[in-house]
Amino acid sequence: MTMLLPKFELHQPTTVADAVALAKKFGADADFLSGGTDLLPNYKCGLNARKHVISLQHIDDLKHIDATSIGAGVTLTEIEHNTDVPAGVREAAGHIASPLLRESGTLGGNLMLDNRCHFFNQSYFWRNSLGYCLKADGDRCHVVPKINVDGQSVLNDKVCVATHSSDLAPMLIALGADATFIGPDGERTVKLNDFYYGDGIERYERKPGEILVKVTLPEWALNVRSGWKKLAPRQSIDFSVVGVGIALDLDGDKVSKLRVGLGAVDTTPVLFDYSGKEARKAPHHYLLVDSTKDMPEVIGKALTDELIETIATHVQTQAQPKLNVPMAPDYRKKMCGVLTRRLLKELRDQTA
Ligand SMILES: Cc1cc2nc3c(=O)[nH]c(=O)nc-3n(C[C@H](O)[C@H](O)[C@H](O)COP(=O)(O)OP(=O)(O)OC[C@H]3O[C@@H](n4cnc5c(N)ncnc54)[C@H](O)[C@@H]3O)c2cc1C
Ligand code: SF4
Repeated sequence: MTMLLPKFELHQPTTVADAVALAKKFGADADFLSGGTDLLPNYKCGLNARKHVISLQHIDDLKHIDATSIGAGVTLTEIEHNTDVPAGVREAAGHIASPLLRESGTLGGNLMLDNRCHFFNQSYFWRNSLGYCLKADGDRCHVVPKINVDGQSVLNDKVCVATHSSDLAPMLIALGADATFIGPDGERTVKLNDFYYGDGIERYERKPGEILVKVTLPEWALNVRSGWKKLAPRQSIDFSVVGVGIALDLDGDKVSKLRVGLGAVDTTPVLFDYSGKEARKAPHHYLLVDSTKDMPEVIGKALTDELIETIATHVQTQAQPKLNVPMAPDYRKKMCGVLTRRLLKELRDQTA
């Protein structure tokens, strides 16, 4: 079946200020476009297409990259090959999609990626035959059809559990990244971990018309070991169905910092901060991952195989994948533990 782009008016500003002004003018009728590798396939499927598209491709201010600061317009290929940025960030970027898509896809598009679900990422024809769903054109969820409200099992017309599938988000969260936005109300910087919140439709707290401008890493992120592993049906092109990014610091053989970012198992990336300083915002009442629950003590302890097993088991136990992307949830849950274990061992055994 041929899937055509719906008609829209393309705007091509060259400054952030002009892009923000256009976003303010067109409001809910506009989308930003960066590399287009996520937005345009969604438009072809008739998923929430808008009448105005504001391209960010010609804004040079979004394209700066150095060791601790990456502009939203920097391509995944540039991140992959920039040896100044932490290894985990390069690895995560280098495993996204395919080489061709990484040439166009950007950091901004990756962090603002729409959530995915079998029942959503389909053609209009396909979705029409099923009767649509909450995330586009419909009024119910096919993954969690019923919810319990005040003791009664009722139709779920409230909560979408579509999966957050960005590879860079969990890695950058593990490395303590901040995100800077510019919008009609000015500039603000937030912890990237705090930015992601809510269900598969809401998924982040972006104010109307805001552009993600850059991501900034703390200095400590340059001095820790970091790495990334993902599970995907085909490593050569597919989205993650589990992604694990780890930032680890050792003092001798003892853990002095450990942050695990888990992706593709919930409606947002999930941070497990074993250093105990940063917690995920209270999860949505329907979302089951609570990374702080039963958290083991690891700081100051030797990173033995036994401790690694404890950490991997904790991540696996808390992870709650849903049946809405490829591969069975119980297998993906187990792989959360497997990938955490493998990556921790690799990072521990690296020569410092
Ligand atoms: C076959 C295939 C495989 C893929 N595999 C993976 C994968 O393995 N891992 C993965 O993480 N992704 C994957 N992707 C998704 C996508 O290619 C990447 O996430 C890419 O980084 C998206 O960037 P983009 O610039 O193309 O985004 P776009 O498509 O341009 O935009 C995506 C979203 O972000 C918004 N946006 C973009 N920039 C900004 C900004 N600066 N401020 C505010 N909003 C913004 C857009 O409005 C849109 O909603 C895959 C895509 C395809 C088609
Ligand atoms: S999880 Fe979200 S996208 Fe999937 S069927 Fe339910 S409402 Fe639709």
